This record gives sequence, structure tokens and C-alpha cells, in this order.
Amino acid sequence: MFNLKDFFVKNKEISQLVYGILLIILIIFFISFNSFSIIKKYKTGLNESLNHQAYFYAKSIYTLMKPNLNDTATLQKQIDSLLDKNSEIINFSVLKESEDGFETVASTDKSLIGKTNSFYLYKFAWQQPDYQGVATDSFSASMADNEADRDFIANLKTEGTNWFVALPMFDESGTKKAILSVVISSRFEDGITAKNKMNSLLITLISIAVVIMFLSLVLRIWDYAFLYKKVKEVDEMKDEFISMASHELRTPVTGIKGYSSMIIDGSLGAVSKQVKDGALIINAAANRLSVLVDDLLNVSRIEQGRMQIALKPMNIHQIISEVVQELKVQADQKKLALIYTPANIDLPLVEIDSDRLKQVLINLIGNSIKYTETGKVEIIVETVAKKLAIKIKDTGLGMSAEAREKLFQKFYRVQTVKTKNITGTGLGLWITQQIMELMKGSIEVESIEGTGSQFTVKFPIVVMK
Ligand code: ADP
Repeated sequence: MFNLKDFFVKNKEISQLVYGILLIILIIFFISFNSFSIIKKYKTGLNESLNHQAYFYAKSIYTLMKPNLNDTATLQKQIDSLLDKNSEIINFSVLKESEDGFETVASTDKSLIGKTNSFYLYKFAWQQPDYQGVATDSFSASMADNEADRDFIANLKTEGTNWFVALPMFDESGTKKAILSVVISSRFEDGITAKNKMNSLLITLISIAVVIMFLSLVLRIWDYAFLYKKVKEVDEMKDEFISMASHELRTPVTGIKGYSSMIIDGSLGAVSKQVKDGALIINAAANRLSVLVDDLLNVSRIEQGRMQIALKPMNIHQIISEVVQELKVQADQKKLALIYTPANIDLPLVEIDSDRLKQVLINLIGNSIKYTETGKVEIIVETVAKKLAIKIKDTGLGMSAEAREKLFQKFYRVQTVKTKNITGTGLGLWITQQIMELMKGSIEVESIEGTGSQFTVKFPIVVMK
């Protein structure tokens, strides 16, 4: 049976595309919806304010005209003077009740004067109390009952929204005398709205274009993320392979090391000098292989987060002494002085994993012995600003500033004439730095090419509470 979930899992790229397109459509929809609803609200607001404006005009003009309601000529003069200033006013008329309806007595449209109509809104307005009337933007010729009224209404309107206001006019004595009719057009506001509409349409289009551009970028980032995941998977496979291969190598290497040693020391019976020399070469090679296997195992342990670290507050004097003792043979072979003379063996406690600290010290002191031709390797322990520092100082090859920068990178080895014949993996310092980080300590190096190097590891001193 067709399963939609399986389909999308299998066709990752298609599902990403569908998701991207869906996002684009949604964002476009929301941007457009937002723009149009803002325009709509703006238009409604404008319309409302136009309504108030029309009412306000009508009422103010009515107040102005109130004393002259019986004087048609003055009314006409007042209307004429108002028209110039308020071009939003399309029609302004005063009508008096007549037998057939309402007769226009004064108007901005002179052709209406003397004509009578029975416009239903005038009838309605005539019934209203003082200072109240009719205000509407929906009046149309089609609602009139006769031809003359239809013409009359059509004549009052222009394009766009028109606000019609009609008020009954009472004279000073309170007698209803006439109707004031004002028609205001929204043509200016319509112009502004149209302009705003265009602007917001333009902004909407630009936003949509930006969104599409952004999403295409996101799609590309997705691709990279997908690729990154794949690379990570391959990397994990590589780690697993290294881990498995080094484990498998360990047993045969131990065998080769053991048996070659037994040949060398004669445990397997007397052998000729030639066989012994051969066994020495085998043993040296097996030792190198063993270091490589151990380094690879450590790298894979660290990378897979399997390096066990159990921190305990300890006095590190004993550990340093043991390592120095262990490496003394190598130093003696090279006729180097290996010096550790602690000023005070009652060192402050630091939190460490003793096996890992041993590993760090073997790496660093071992390197100093390895990369020093003559002179000495010295181990100094000091307290510096609430930290305990172990300094491993040698009079060896040293290194350039450029080499120092890359020193802690995986597989990095300094390539000079002097280091050419010294074997190594370039993993020791990377492992050392990782272990130091796991033990919440730090490692630093100072070195002068041709003079010597000093590696310093530091641990925060444990404060007893
Ligand atoms: P390896 O010793 O196996 O090559 P390391 O990671 O221990 O790898 O060291 C990296 C490089 O740093 C070495 O190849 C060496 O060139 C340089 N190095 C390390 N320690 C010293 C030292 N004490 N003096 C001079 N060079 C050193």
C-alpha cells in the first residue's frame, strides 16, 4: 500500500522542495493578506473620516446660513463663496418644501435652481430634528421612483465614493424652513489610496522576491546540511574502522614484540649474531607499530567520546617521579640529564586522572628526550595564580613560530633536516591536548628554534572547604 511518509523519507529532495514551495506560498499569502487588509482598513478609516467631514461641513454651513434662511440671494452668495475653498464639495444646495417635493432655491449647480424633485433622502431628512439628518455613501439614481429624480441624483454624483448629507434647516424661531444638501467626493482620498495601494503592492512584490531569494538560499543550505550529515556518517564509519583495525592489530604486534624480545635476550635459546640483529630490527619496528596502534586507539577513543576520565584531587609528585623513573633509561641512552628536583614534595592538590596524567607526562617528557640531541630535560613544578604548573623544559631542537601554531593539530610533524630521521605519528600532542581539556587543565608551549622548548601544563588547585 502507498505510504506517504515512506515516500517522503525515500524522496528527501522532493519533500524538501515541496516544503520549500509550501513555505513560499504561505509567506506570499501572509504578506499579501497583510498588505491588502492594511489597505482595506486604511480605506475604511478614510471613508469614515470623510463621513464625519461631510456632516461637519453641513452642520457648520447650516449654522452660518441659519439667520438668512428667508433670503435666497444671500444663501446663494454664501454657497458661491464656499465652493471656491472646498473643491471636495461636488454639490451644495438649499431646497425648500414645495407641493411636489423639494425645490432647489440656491445651489452650486445653477441649472438646478427652480427645479423640483422628490428625492427619497430629502423626504427622510425632512423628518429629522434640528442638527440631525441623513449621511450616507450609498445613494443611487436607480433607487429613485421617477425619471426626473433619477436625473437629479445622477447629477449629484461623481466617480468614486460620494458622501451625501442632508439636514433640515430651522430658522431662529425654530420653524422648519428648508433642507441643506451637501455632496462630498472622495476623489482626493481615492487618489491617495490608489497611490498607497500601488506602493504597498510594490513593497509586497519586493518582499515576495526577497522571500523567494531567501528560501532558495535555505534550500541550498539544506543541501549542504544533507551533505554534512553524509560526511559525518562517513567520518563515523572511518572512526569505527580505525578503532576496529587498531584493536585487531594490537594482539599480533604484542606477539611480535614479545617473541622478538625473547630471541634478543636468549630466552628461546642461543642464536647467531645475525639472527639477534634481525630480531632487534623486528623489535624496534614492532615497538613503533605498537606506538602507532596505541595512538590510533587513543584518537578513536577521544573522537567517539569513549575516553574514560575519573578526576580525583591528588598530589602529583608521586606520578611525576614514576614517569621520570620510567623514562630515565631513554634519557641515559641519549646521554641526556633528566632532572626532577621538586623544591617541595608537599604539593597543593589538583583534580586529575592519574593514568591520563601519566600519559600526558610520558608524551611530553618522551618528546623532549626524542627531540633533544644534547643537554638536559628538566621538570619543574610551580604554583602560578591558583594553578599548579608542570613545566617540561629541554635544550633540544626547538621549533619555529609557524610550527608552534600548528603543533597541536592531528598528524602535524615539524619537517626539518634534524627531525627527518626521528620517527613519530604526529598524534601525541593532539592526544595530549585533548586529554588536558578533558581534565579541565591547559597546555602551552614556548620554544626557540635551535635552543629548546618548554611545555607547560596547568591544573586549577583544589580549594579545600
Ligand atoms: P610525534 O612526536 O609522534 O611526531 P607529536 O604530536 O608528539 O608527534 O609532536 C608533533 C611534532 O612536534 C613532532 O613531530 C615534533 O616535530 C614537534 N615536537 C614535539 N615536542 C617537541 C620538543 N620537545 N622539541 C621540539 N619539537 C617537538
